[in-house]
Amino acid sequence: MKFLTIQEAMDKEKGTVSVRGWVYRERKSNKYAFIVIRDHSNILQCVFTKEELPEKTWENAKRLLMESSVKITGDIKKDERAPSGYELQVKDLEVVQFAEPYPITKDFSPEFLLDKRHLWIRSRKITAVMKIRHTIVGAIHEFFRKRGYFEFDPPIFQPSQCEGGSTLFEVKYFNDKVYLSQSWQLYAEAAVFALGKIYDMSPTFRAEKSKTSRHLAEFWMAEMEAAWMQLDEVTEVAKDEVRFIIKEVLKHNKKDLEVLKRDIKILEHYAKEDYPTIKYAEALKIINEKYGMKVPFGKDLRTIEEAKISEHFGVPVVVTHYPTEIMGFYKPPSKENPEEALCFDMIAPEGYCEIVGGSERSLDVKNMGDRLKAQGEDPAAYEWYFDLRKFGSVPHSGYGLGVERVVAFICGLDNIKDAIPFPRTMLRKTP
Ligand code: ATP
Ligand code: MG
Repeated sequence: MKFLTIQEAMDKEKGTVSVRGWVYRERKSNKYAFIVIRDHSNILQCVFTKEELPEKTWENAKRLLMESSVKITGDIKKDERAPSGYELQVKDLEVVQFAEPYPITKDFSPEFLLDKRHLWIRSRKITAVMKIRHTIVGAIHEFFRKRGYFEFDPPIFQPSQCEGGSTLFEVKYFNDKVYLSQSWQLYAEAAVFALGKIYDMSPTFRAEKSKTSRHLAEFWMAEMEAAWMQLDEVTEVAKDEVRFIIKEVLKHNKKDLEVLKRDIKILEHYAKEDYPTIKYAEALKIINEKYGMKVPFGKDLRTIEEAKISEHFGVPVVVTHYPTEIMGFYKPPSKENPEEALCFDMIAPEGYCEIVGGSERSLDVKNMGDRLKAQGEDPAAYEWYFDLRKFGSVPHSGYGLGVERVVAFICGLDNIKDAIPFPRTMLRKTP
């Protein structure tokens, strides 16, 4: 017997087909059983008619509970009233396993669904998100490979910090200790002197103590780094990348976006518009003058301020030249005004806030050493990194794009935890 996926069976439109999957919904009466089954491709309503089936088949159909696994043969036809527009008149049923009563029915709290994530992952919502994530990850590889970037894999065990000591995960390493990667950046900077333009997507770990809907403790960062590239160019790469990702999702995942009830028109708008670049100082002007806030120069932008900036523009916005004082040690002060750093964030609209962060990289060993010391770090641990400035140093830049932030934005999710199959946060490490 040849099994078709549910979608393939529906694409045939008529005739006898065999499908296999899991019970998604069941409704039974004395004469009929309506069993909706699902597989990865779609859902299909299967109708069991008591009078037309052998007694054993009818008895088995009556016993089916949600998530039971089944193989079904029957005649498929169009039916406007069925949930996916098709209906199968069942001729034969093989129950592979009768499931126990399923713990998830409906209206459960987000925390309960996270406790049952190993099962909730089968929901139409999470399945749709995972399919979109698949497209996004593929699009990132394609974007960089088409442009001549090499894939370069960094170490995940690292001896020192890159993004601030407060979010480091310390790991026992034989008789010593190391940290889990907060970013590939320092290693990427070594590699651009060999490969020129590189990218990667790898697991990233930050012990985020703030409980926001945008922070995970384990997430995937898609990073790029390029020799000779400066701020004005690297920001354009980031814009092109985000537009390309959105286009790919629109090309491959319309059905999944519909399952998620995501506004497709607005994504089409983001896929084709230009994204503005403004300086941090201009961003302050907008939030202070238009929105009546009082943010002084020198303060990092919080969620609420980022949300106002993106509301003002209605598309992703690149904000450059944040105050040097609050930026990482490797983000260089601009020559014109050393209080401003040559860095940028991309802020997504609809309150999704920062999705990309990047910068030129400082070439000034003394300045970086001083800034590390000011953070309580020992510059000696960065000797190898400073070597890169001694042997043919050239301007270079890079950025990191948070894969889950982009998934959440494109899917229209309330919380970043639904953008990754098994989320890890300060309060969540199971299942
Ligand atoms: P935030 O201010 O939102 O904490 P950040 O400035 O610490 O972000 P970067 O160090 O610039 O972030 O990291 C690059 C990108 O990685 C961010 O733009 C974001 O998309 C993503 N990112 C950073 N931290 C997290 C996290 N804890 N969970 C998920 N994604 C993250
Ligand atoms: Mg952070």
